[in-house]
Amino acid sequence: MNMCKVYVTASQKGGVAKTTTAGSLGIGLAKKGYKVLLVDADAQGSLTASLGYKEPDSMNDTLAVIMEKEIQDEEYDSNIFGILHHDEGVDLVPSNIELAAVEVALIQAMSRETILKRYIDKVKDNYDYIIIDSAPSLGLITINVLVAADKIIIPVQAAYLSVKGLEQLIKTISRVRRNLNNQLGIDGVLITMLDKRTVYAREIVELLDDAYGKAINIYNSRIPFSIRAVEATTKGVSIYKHDPKGKVAEAYGELTEEVLANA
Ligand code: ADP
Ligand code: MG
Repeated sequence: MNMCKVYVTASQKGGVAKTTTAGSLGIGLAKKGYKVLLVDADAQGSLTASLGYKEPDSMNDTLAVIMEKEIQDEEYDSNIFGILHHDEGVDLVPSNIELAAVEVALIQAMSRETILKRYIDKVKDNYDYIIIDSAPSLGLITINVLVAADKIIIPVQAAYLSVKGLEQLIKTISRVRRNLNNQLGIDGVLITMLDKRTVYAREIVELLDDAYGKAINIYNSRIPFSIRAVEATTKGVSIYKHDPKGKVAEAYGELTEEVLANA
């Protein structure tokens, strides 16, 4: 039986640590011995760049090509095509600006919401966890990601929490659940970039609880703000490599445990 679980980091807001969380959770799981595939589903290629592939736009075999092949029903070896083996123990399907063209091509495609799921279902047997990093939009690529996923992780940046901003995402999730993927669930809301001096996690949790009751899990792990996280992104290595003893690495290690406990 295939036990692979597919997670996506999603938010209609940019700069809330979706990409950082996808990479850190994926490498956190790999460090525990799990087989992990990271999928960059953002045309910005931020996850790809954050893992040290500095020029995503010069790459050839990317998620865009895979999705085009799926749209065309073209034969290819899904076990190897477009999959990079990263030295921190994860596999990666990179992305670049070509994914923006796929967003347009999808409009005309047959079964346009399930193209990515077809690919994910083909590679699932090779992995314990697949983590998809999505773009801050609710376009067709992101819908494809939500259709392919089992669980959503929603990062919210502590200093700019907007409960209203979450509403649109949660509406989209409900719509996808009703029409396209009734397995889809929210694993949790992750409070990121928490600066203890200015914002108290307790207030944020209260705000979320007021708006959504206990319906949505809020992870106990909170990711503190640290310049080390920015440095890691810039350097193209994980936080575990850049600052292994730091508080961000510790917090993402805790999140990894929490996600495993929920699974
Ligand atoms: P998103 O994918 O939601 O746009 P990113 O993961 O790309 O967000 O993060 C946005 C920026 O914030 C990046 O420069 C990243 O290095 C930085 N960042 C991520 N996590 C933290 C953190 N815990 N503390 C400080 N900066 C962070
Ligand atoms: Mg991102």
